[in-house]
Amino acid sequence: MEFELAEEHRMLKDLVARFVKDELLPLEPEVLKREAEGLGLGIGREAHARLDEVSKSLGLWGLDAPEDIGGSDLPAVAMVGVEEELGRTVTPYTLPPDSPNLRMLRATVNERQKEAYLEPYVRGETVSAIGISEPGAGGDPAGMITRAVRDGEDWVINGRKIWISRAADADFTILMAVTDREKGARGGISAFLVDKGTPGFNVVRPIPMVGGAVTYEVLLEDCRVEGWKLLGTEGQGFAPMQLRLGTRRVQMAAWSVGMAQRALDMICEYAPQRTTFGQPLSQRQAIQWWVADAATKIHAARLMTYDCAWKLDQGRDVRLEISMIKAFATEMAWEVVDHAMQTFGAMGMTKELPLQLMASKLRTMRIYDGPTEIHKWVVARNLLGSKR
Ligand SMILES: Cc1cc2nc3c(=O)[nH]c(=O)nc-3n(C[C@H](O)[C@H](O)[C@H](O)COP(=O)(O)OP(=O)(O)OC[C@H]3O[C@@H](n4cnc5c(N)ncnc54)[C@H](O)[C@@H]3O)c2cc1C
Repeated sequence: MEFELAEEHRMLKDLVARFVKDELLPLEPEVLKREAEGLGLGIGREAHARLDEVSKSLGLWGLDAPEDIGGSDLPAVAMVGVEEELGRTVTPYTLPPDSPNLRMLRATVNERQKEAYLEPYVRGETVSAIGISEPGAGGDPAGMITRAVRDGEDWVINGRKIWISRAADADFTILMAVTDREKGARGGISAFLVDKGTPGFNVVRPIPMVGGAVTYEVLLEDCRVEGWKLLGTEGQGFAPMQLRLGTRRVQMAAWSVGMAQRALDMICEYAPQRTTFGQPLSQRQAIQWWVADAATKIHAARLMTYDCAWKLDQGRDVRLEISMIKAFATEMAWEVVDHAMQTFGAMGMTKELPLQLMASKLRTMRIYDGPTEIHKWVVARNLLGSKR
């Protein structure tokens, strides 16, 4: 049994750690200021372009993209290290291309779609979104009712999607729709590539979320999509969508470990300096137990996440592990960040420290890509059997 990252993956993790320290952390004060002023989460075009330049020059693009189109095709374990480091900062920056849609595209594209969508996406030229959730179907996507119907060579889509991140900006959205009502999730849901500006793809409103994030509601009104933009096999969209969701969930677990580690580091730095009633906070058992519990749970979450990624790389079925780490790591980090905020007292309540933004991010992470309770239900159902 080997619990260490391979040398080259550890070096990559260190490189990302340096990128975070030198490039992303210095931007945090500005990120916090903008968010506090109600301007949302962002870094501005100029800073974004600079980060793209630096990260590209460091070889940090396309880390898990196929080698034949310029990627490094790194395994999931290597990506966990990368995401853990990125999780340490609240500066919103994603190394192109974002892994979840990449994984879904890799699993489904044909030659034409590869050239038109996957390759520009890997080159960092396009932004994508995923449209699964609907007003009546979020945690249970099998309940979606958005319908795609064949019309000659094309597909015509009608329905409504909600909570869609990046829907207004994305160059294309991978849109999930029902193509066979009878079959539903078992052979009746398909994925489509819908380009920005397609008539009938109407982004009807931005929805401000906690922590400065924004999602969108999208109304699909006779949205006509050319036949070749059906992604993968008709009716078989659910499995690649689950692959996509699984990729995000592993990523989220790694981010949570990074965030919790940063919060713990902040407690450990601050607690010895702050004196109340004649003693430093680090001498108080309440704080010591938070530190010990945080270190223990971070260690557990990190090992669980690497274990899951390793099994994924071996081609094993990790549905259960993914539900476990998504729920455990996000809830763990939520608790650790909360304890860090408590340790800092009033300072922990300010918008000058990153802790409140970490808490807001984690608050949404406990919901998106499946709320905690649903993942626990999945684990329990698997152990107990669905009939008990
Ligand atoms: C910031 C953010 C970004 C998002 N981005 C996207 C996106 O880009 N694309 C997209 O398609 N969607 C996106 N979503 C939607 C997200 O994936 C869904 O909100 C999520 O899956 C939950 O669905 P729901 O809101 O309909 O909650 P519901 O499914 O209605 O669940 C509500 C609550 O009921 C409880 N519950 C439900 N089922 C069970 C169960 N079986 N057992 C126990 N308890 C249960 C849980 O506590 C749950 O929180 C985003 C959401 C957020 C918050």
